[in-house]
Amino acid sequence: MNKYRYRFLADAMLGRTARWLRILGYDTIYTDKLTDDELISTCLSESRILLTSDEQLYYRATRSGVETILVRGRSEAEKIAWIAFNLGFKPQINPDLSLCPVCNSRVRKIDVDEARIRGVPKKVLEWNRDYWICHGCGKVYWIGSHYRRMKLFLEKVSSILEGLYSSSKQFSHNNMPSFSLSRSDHSPHSSQ
Ligand SMILES: [Zn+2]
Repeated sequence: MNKYRYRFLADAMLGRTARWLRILGYDTIYTDKLTDDELISTCLSESRILLTSDEQLYYRATRSGVETILVRGRSEAEKIAWIAFNLGFKPQINPDLSLCPVCNSRVRKIDVDEARIRGVPKKVLEWNRDYWICHGCGKVYWIGSHYRRMKLFLEKVSSILEGLYSSSKQFSHNNMPSFSLSRSDHSPHSSQ
């Protein structure tokens, strides 16, 4: 429960990644309003890890002393796996610890009566007991079909992550593992 939670700032290209990180419980600011300088100064003043796919920004931020991850991967699952791989965390969903994907605020559990008052559809109220409301925007969440899709997404992330860990063992410490894991590329590199 008390383990350290990373805090992130995602650049303008990583809005969907930011939403996933919030669902996974990580405080993540996402904005397309800040200049590169402002991104860097916000990370420094709020101890946030900068996430960017922009190499220039990556090198600039790193030189300024900001912990920065150059986010690789095409799909969202690959991007989340890449971030988790770099920091060594295991992506998991715990609805009590999730942050609102829309506004990055904390959520709290509410009972069925409050869910009814908040406008949750009758059909949902008939079968569902567990609801959470966002402190920030007031959106109500429950475990429905979207939750099962999230679980499937996480399974995909886990298998990509496993691939990254096993390929990183095959590389020297100077090389990054890649995502081309399905390609059975066993070129005979430096076996001597
Ligand atoms: Zn919210």
